[in-house]
Amino acid sequence: MEDQENLPLFREFPMLGKKLSYVPLATLPTPVERLIKAGARIDLPNLYIKRDDLSGKHYGSNKVRKLEFLLGEAIQQKSKEVVTFGFAGSNHALATAIYANQLGLQCTSLLLPQVNAHYVRKNLLASHFYKSRLRSCKNLPHLFLMIFGKYLFDKIKGRKSPMLIPAGGSCPTGVIGYVNAAFELKEQVSAGDIPEPDRIYVPLGSMGTSVGLMIGLKAAGLKSQVIPVRVIEEKMASVKKMMQLAGKTGSLLCKLDPSFPAINFTKNDFIVRNNCLGPGYARFTEKAVGAADLMRKEAGIILNGTYSAKAFSAILDDADKRILQDKIVLFWNTYNSRDLSAATAGLDYRSLPKEFHRYFEEEVQQLDSAGFDR
Ligand SMILES: *Cc1c(COP(=O)(O)O)cnc(C)c1O
Repeated sequence: MEDQENLPLFREFPMLGKKLSYVPLATLPTPVERLIKAGARIDLPNLYIKRDDLSGKHYGSNKVRKLEFLLGEAIQQKSKEVVTFGFAGSNHALATAIYANQLGLQCTSLLLPQVNAHYVRKNLLASHFYKSRLRSCKNLPHLFLMIFGKYLFDKIKGRKSPMLIPAGGSCPTGVIGYVNAAFELKEQVSAGDIPEPDRIYVPLGSMGTSVGLMIGLKAAGLKSQVIPVRVIEEKMASVKKMMQLAGKTGSLLCKLDPSFPAINFTKNDFIVRNNCLGPGYARFTEKAVGAADLMRKEAGIILNGTYSAKAFSAILDDADKRILQDKIVLFWNTYNSRDLSAATAGLDYRSLPKEFHRYFEEEVQQLDSAGFDR
């Protein structure tokens, strides 16, 4: 665990360290490794991985870096409870459940329907184990109504409302976790742990990981190009929305520390890869299944069909087109790889609210293969 002074972002910008609320949850820096065997399979001698799957002792993933700032803010605001939302299998909802629980905060997750997969079952059970209150929402309007109703009720009762954490933790406060991650990478480049990447491939969901990295890399003076690989429909994560999130996060950083460089992006800075989504969010593709199989066989790392396997499949695509051979390629692994089976073993799904039982009673999608997490 790091102390405050030790975050690379705070070392560069000490004023941010003084002004931002932050609670250490992650095990940082996460390792960078060269994927020699997997790289050889696709003729990429310079394929590397950033192991954010190991970002937490009990639960890793990209969500931990965001939660250090988000839950830091919750504690600073003296919130006793956080409310977040996402799809039924949301990794973010699970990460929030685990780390809120660790800090003694109540967590409520409002969850939307999604296509079924083994990881959905696992995440629901684990969230329940970590004492998150799970609520099922039929659709977005229903979700907003539930949030609005809760806040109105608290107001009438004169009670403090819980802190609301947006989907994926991707508001400016959460995004700063990935601004810091870019500074962390810079230190690893300086230390010679990895050559400066030409390209960084990362899944594009609620956009925080990509946007944070893009801001951080520019601010840190690295030339690496982020390739956000779309895993969710464009209406949820458009270039316009990415630019808005980048603008808000940049303004917040400059406001807190005027020495933080003003970063301006144009549309052309966002090179979103659109051809790996397949039929839609959380719907697995043959290509992603193949990518996950290769990673499991050659590196022993498990990818997720909704996110990381799709991002890795973009690397396979580009390797296939032979446009990466002389490039330093970094695959930023965003999925947790810590074992949660102790948390879910022996839990009966019937202890969940009944709206969630269907994920356990209905079949999972056909492509949910053994290469994925179960
Ligand atoms: C949430 C998530 C992402 C998406 O990151 P965003 O910051 O939401 O774009 C990628 N990979 C995994 C495994 C995730 O859970």
